[in-house]
Amino acid sequence: MKLKHVIALYIIASLLFCKPLVAELKTIQLITMGGAITGTQKDALSGKFKLSSRSAETLVAGNIEILELADIKFKELFNIPSQEITTEHWIKLAKEVDKAVNNITNDAVIITHGTDTLEETAYFLNLTIKTKKPIIITGAIRAALHPSSDSTQNLIDSIRVATHPNASNKGVLVVANGKIISARQIQKNYNHSLDALESSEIGILGYVHNEIIDFHTASIKKHTLYSEFDIKTIEDLPTVDIAYAYSGGLSANLKNKVNGLIIAGVGSGNISKKNIAILKKLQKNNIQIVRSTRNIGAPLYSTIGSEINDKYLEFVSSNNLSPQKARILLMLALHKTKDPNKIRSYFENH
Ligand code: GLU
Repeated sequence: MKLKHVIALYIIASLLFCKPLVAELKTIQLITMGGAITGTQKDALSGKFKLSSRSAETLVAGNIEILELADIKFKELFNIPSQEITTEHWIKLAKEVDKAVNNITNDAVIITHGTDTLEETAYFLNLTIKTKKPIIITGAIRAALHPSSDSTQNLIDSIRVATHPNASNKGVLVVANGKIISARQIQKNYNHSLDALESSEIGILGYVHNEIIDFHTASIKKHTLYSEFDIKTIEDLPTVDIAYAYSGGLSANLKNKVNGLIIAGVGSGNISKKNIAILKKLQKNNIQIVRSTRNIGAPLYSTIGSEINDKYLEFVSSNNLSPQKARILLMLALHKTKDPNKIRSYFENH
């Protein structure tokens, strides 16, 4: 056989049987909701946050390295500050994420979101999307055009986590400030500092340090595939309000018709005798009462040692869910049942 035939055969064989030298990039659907991460500011010094038409696409296009990390598809779903997010926005976003994870060409989903209510959106998605694919939510404390913005770094870290094999089947993850935090434990603890997005005292799941993705643990509370809720069956949600307890009172606006009420109680979800009597009547009138606490991170249980007898009153305790997260779980629970015992079991394992 002549040399040129050997070379031709070699080229054909390598095209047919050899692995490509460059690994194929994973495909990420990036959905933007607004907030500082894609926002700008009035001027370099004031730090005043402004929404901008500057999309995540522009943020990424300015950073060639990002384009080498993944194949990213962009969708601007909303461009609003996150204090404007309502249950309708959650449902619309969850349906979009559901569509994205069911598209076989997508490997993962990233959502950019304002940080004020990011924890609520993250927990809603964590309970309603049926998938093992990574879903990451990120935000930024300093707007994209701030001289020392955390926007691009948080986006790069999110892409790295989203494309990492250990990120699947972990529920919805929040990536911010070099940390990976479960949607159940994420809370905004501070207004301005770069470590504003933190975990409850249960702790973070892992770290992102440049290209290193270092998972240490995972949440075993029910999420995504294992949760009892599915966005495919949800078109709207029951109304659940939050009442804040303080010395001498409870800020319940009971004129609004509600299906459930979360009490941000004092200490271990305590409520004065006078208010317990009012809440007992509401519970009898089919308004489910769930006790949470105004204290950060404190878990509540329906035990006999508790100052309030949940089982007798048919109240439910929120475990360590903050009032705003307990509200989400109660809305989903009431979507399925009015049985306080069943609702209590949802609170024990989600
Ligand atoms: N209020 C804005 C929001 O949550 C602040 C900017 C931010 O932290 O993203 O969207």
